[in-house]
Amino acid sequence: MPRLHVVNDDSASQAVPRTAKDVLKALQAPSSCLKGLYVHVPFCIHRCHYCDFFTIAGREQDRSRYVDRLIAEAECVLPQLPIGMESIFIGGGTPTYLSPDDLHRLLSRLRTLLQETGQSIAEWTVEANPDTVSEEIADVLGQSGVNRVSLGAQSFQPQALTALERHHDPDHVGLAMDRLRQAGISDLSLDLIFAVPSGLDPRVAWRADLEMAISLKPTHMSCYGLTYEPGTPLTRRLETGRVTRVSQEMEAAQYEEALTLLAQEGYEHYEISNWARPGCRCRHNEIYWRNENWWPLGPSASGHVEGTRWRNVPRLGEYLDSEGLPPIDSIEQLDEEGRWGEVLMLGLRLLDGVPKQTVDAACATSGRGARRADVMRQAIEDELLEWRKDHLALTTRGLLLADGVIRELL
Ligand code: SF4
Repeated sequence: MPRLHVVNDDSASQAVPRTAKDVLKALQAPSSCLKGLYVHVPFCIHRCHYCDFFTIAGREQDRSRYVDRLIAEAECVLPQLPIGMESIFIGGGTPTYLSPDDLHRLLSRLRTLLQETGQSIAEWTVEANPDTVSEEIADVLGQSGVNRVSLGAQSFQPQALTALERHHDPDHVGLAMDRLRQAGISDLSLDLIFAVPSGLDPRVAWRADLEMAISLKPTHMSCYGLTYEPGTPLTRRLETGRVTRVSQEMEAAQYEEALTLLAQEGYEHYEISNWARPGCRCRHNEIYWRNENWWPLGPSASGHVEGTRWRNVPRLGEYLDSEGLPPIDSIEQLDEEGRWGEVLMLGLRLLDGVPKQTVDAACATSGRGARRADVMRQAIEDELLEWRKDHLALTTRGLLLADGVIRELL
């Protein structure tokens, strides 16, 4: 799931939701609407050196108890959520690292709960590591109603996987896709990472990754530039000079290569880092980018309801020992300024852009509205943003400098 910046807000007034229970209460209003459910499974075989998500390597003995707790949380929450949910995303971590029995228990209980509560889910995604997709796991996914799998391929070059300390066999990506298709799941997404300091010729290696991924015929692809998150082993290697960052110029050239090649192959570029076959966009991630409402289950999972963002505790022991709704780590209620800033920041990630009506409203606020309008005018003049009919969107040049452009508009 996308990273969320969530902070403690001790200054909030009494009217502001302080707990997830308050948010749940607010959702009882007849007009309330919730589009998605995110479920976090933190277990991984091994911790990759670039990863800063809440993941746990080892502790296999806790996985069954974890599923029990997750089911208890779902049983507490799902009957209280408004009808109208469109997607579920089970991410992590590596959900497919659960045993087939535990994965089956989790998915079938969720499915039953959703049916009992009248939800009709169009898109059900599970994230997977290629090495964990055995025939048994693929069958569990296929038989449980999962209709989309997102596979972390990252690279097909062993040297790049070694640089990322990512432990999977590149040949297993295709094998996992075959097994998933045999199990009836045809909507398959591949994640790739560029700007990896692997010692290979970056342009040649990246082109080979793209060509290999395309040859496997995924319906969706996500291509991210490697980020050095604070505190990860990879960042420590960078700080101590044992790794050299790929230059910004090379990173931009690799991104442009993805733009060109994926367009040639008929993939629709619909978000800065995401491409899809027609009709195969990730609806769940669109919920994030469109600033819609979703509910989180599991430790460290973040939720959003009408400008309130919160995060469950990122601690396994505390989560396992809790009952009902899990304790939260932080909750924040954005003011009007903050909400418009987020609408622009997230919406401009989409190639469809932001509707003019929304842009006008974001520029009409009494605080930063006028400044936003100035920044936008300048960005249009600099050919970073453009009007496409009645939507404001990043230009191709703007895509390459998206972080800076969007930061200015906040
Ligand atoms: S498999 Fe994914 S979630 Fe697990 S450590 Fe690696 S990058 Fe992080």
